[in-house]
Formats: sequence, C-alpha cells, structure tokens
Amino acid sequence: MKILVTGAAGYIGSHTVLELLEAGHDVVAVDNLCNSSRESLRRVEALTGRSVPFVEADIRDESAMRAVLTGAPGRAGPDAAGDVAESPESAGATVPAGDFEAVIHFAGLKAVGESTEQPLAYYENNVGGTIALLRAMDAAGVRRMIFSSSATVYGDPVAVPIPETAPVGSPSNPYGYSKLMIEQILRDLAAADPRWSVALLRYFNPVGAHPSGRIGEDPRGIPNNLVPFISQVAVGRREALSVFGDDYPTPDGTGVRDYIHVVDLARGHLAALGHTKPNCRIWNLGTGRGYSVYEAVAAFEKASGQKIPVRVAPRRPGDIATCYADPTRARDELGWQAEHDLDAMMRDAWNWQQQNPDGYGEQ
Ligand code: NAD
Ligand code: UDP
Repeated sequence: MKILVTGAAGYIGSHTVLELLEAGHDVVAVDNLCNSSRESLRRVEALTGRSVPFVEADIRDESAMRAVLTGAPGRAGPDAAGDVAESPESAGATVPAGDFEAVIHFAGLKAVGESTEQPLAYYENNVGGTIALLRAMDAAGVRRMIFSSSATVYGDPVAVPIPETAPVGSPSNPYGYSKLMIEQILRDLAAADPRWSVALLRYFNPVGAHPSGRIGEDPRGIPNNLVPFISQVAVGRREALSVFGDDYPTPDGTGVRDYIHVVDLARGHLAALGHTKPNCRIWNLGTGRGYSVYEAVAAFEKASGQKIPVRVAPRRPGDIATCYADPTRARDELGWQAEHDLDAMMRDAWNWQQQNPDGYGEQ
C-alpha cells in the first residue's frame, strides 16, 4: 500500500514508518519538524535500506497537503516551492504522484502541561490541522485514515481494564479535549459519507525504542513522561526522578499505567490498515497490564544496572490513579496483541538512551 504518514519524524511516527517499510509498504513522510529531527527518518532509511520521500510541511496548510496527496506539479514535487519543501536527500528520488490508499496521522502537539498554558495553539494545531488534512484528503479522494488518539479520552475511568465501550470522560486538559474533538469529527465524517474509513487508535503509554537503539524518543526540554525522565536520570542528564504522588489508592501508592512497547504500538497501525468495516472503529492499543511508577523504576534499574534516585513529590494536577486497557477487541478484530514485556521496554529505552545520550542532537 502507498501511505502518507504525518508527524512521521516523531517518536511513534518514525517507528511506524520503519515497520511499514519492512512490511513492504511505500511511505511518503510529512512533518514540519516542530518537535522532531530529520535525523530520525535518515536512520529509518539506513535501517531498512529504503528511501523515505520527505516533505517538510505543516498539516494546517491545506493546499500543501492537497499537493502532497495529489502530487500536484510545482508544489510537492522535486521543484516544490513555497510552503512545501522536500529534503535534499529525497529530492528527485520521488514524491510519487497520487495513488495514496491511506493516511496515518500522527502530527500533533502532545505536551499536556503546555496545552493548559497554550490552549489555542493546541486546538489550532491538532484540531485545525486535522480538519485541513481531512479536507485535502477528501479533495484528493483519499478517504482512509488511521488516527492517533489516546487513553486520555477516557478521563478518570469508572473501572479497569478499560474497554472501548467505556464512556469517554472529561479530559483534564486541552490536549485531551483536542483528541476527543478530533475523534468526534472523524465519527461524524464517517457517518456522513460511507466512503470514509476511519480507525481511532487509543494508545495507552508508549515507551521503549527500536531494538537497534538507532531510533527512539527524543523529547525537547525536560521530559514530561516517566520513562524518558528515568532514562535521562540514568544517563546523567537529570539528578533524580520526582515520583508524582505515593498516596494513590494503588498497591504501592504510585500511579499505575499500561506501558506498551513502541514497536508493538507501531505494528498495531499495520494491523488497523487491513480493517475497513465498519467504516469507523475504535481500538485500544495497550497490553492489558498496569505497572506502578515504582515497578517501572525497578524494571529500568534491572535493565540498566543503574540505581535511579527518586524523591516523592506532590501529585501532578490532572493525573489519575490507575489506567490500563482491555485490549481484547484489537486481538479479536485485528489479530494484534502486544508482544514485548516491561523488561524489554526498559531494555530498549536504555539501549537507545545509552547510544544517544543527547537524543538526535543537532543533526
Ligand atoms: P512526537 O511529538 O514525537 O511526534 C509528533 C510529530 O508531529 C512531530 O514530529 C512534530 O514535529 C509533528 N507535528 C506537530 N504538529 C505538526 C503540524 N502542524 N504539521 C506537521 N507536523 C507536525 O509525538 P509522538 O509521541 O510520536 O505522538 C504521535 C501522536 O500520537 C500524537 O498525535 C500524539 O498526540 C499521539 N499520542 C502520543 C502518546 C505518547 O505518549 N507518546 C500517547 C497517546 C497519543
Ligand atoms: N510520573 C512521575 N514522575 C515523572 C513523570 C511521570 O511520577 O517525572 C508518573 C505519573 O504521575 C504517572 C506515570 O508516571 O503516574 C506515567 O506518567 P506519564 O506522564 O509518562 O504518562 P501519563 O500520565 O500520560 O499516563
């Protein structure tokens, strides 16, 4: 299949592009590089021995997206000008015209705290960007989308494990609402026009890295998420992990999450590509098991042989006690399930961080 991947240079995007190429799909990558490095896709090319035509563009630019999707001359081709810039490496190689069968849509802003401070930027980028992309897809006649949603749409769940039929809650921040709004837009679109095929993938907590250690998670600034923070403590970039609350109603008092290896998550997208009926469907991508912060730290210490200094800090506003998936639907309908355990997640997170203490750096 020929697939357009937005946000392709980012953490989950780069891992998914790699899996797509290895499965024999053709990929065109789009990213505005606002939160990622071009280097990630160069490494994907090196790992797979295949080229990834790259278009530096913003999904909010509807005409640029339309040009990429239709291969309109003068915009997305090798002579691209204006809003669409192709990387020198792939210039001339190909952004082959048209014929896309699906869009896997990762592009978005994802920092929860930042979304509270800059709600307009989040709604404009995530919601506005998705609408522009959908319009361009419609105009180009490409009506299959796989969307990166999040378990955050469940809010504070009424029970765990969480099935897709659980009510969506009230996310505690604009980021979560942007995901919920996009889900609704996609549901409405699929209901209005049966030509659309939409997969809403609700990710639990993606962690780890490709086992090669060549690509991984490279957050800008202080990591918001647990595993990148632990990794940076282990590699000497941070002093200690702050554990955000040890008084939750969980076995050891710390928050419990469903960590999922990013390679398993990436493969979930390949599984979803094969599913078209009904024309809008939600799947949880999680393991079905929850681990506490202390359990995650212990697994990382085991994988790395490093002691991780921790200090207990106040709860982080908006955090919930426990969240893990019921992943049965994805297993039954997509034939997909997570294969990597927590030890493998931490081993690969450490392998990546050790090989790339400063992430992709200034490449
Ligand atoms: P990431 O920040 O590494 O990747 C997102 C990519 O999108 C980046 O490369 C960024 O430069 C690009 N981007 C952002 N806005 C853009 C725009 N307007 N035009 C073009 N490119 C743009 O994040 P990730 O962890 O790979 O997440 C991918 C998707 O999955 C996001 O939509 C995120 O909200 C969602 N998600 C992530 C997690 C997680 O914990 N990582 C959990 C649930 C859902
Ligand atoms: N957490 C923590 N210290 C950190 C980052 C996270 O104790 O520096 C905790 C957080 O409170 C939650 C778990 O680790 O219980 C996972 O947090 P993360 O931000 O990775 O994911 P999310 O909150 O989005 O599920």
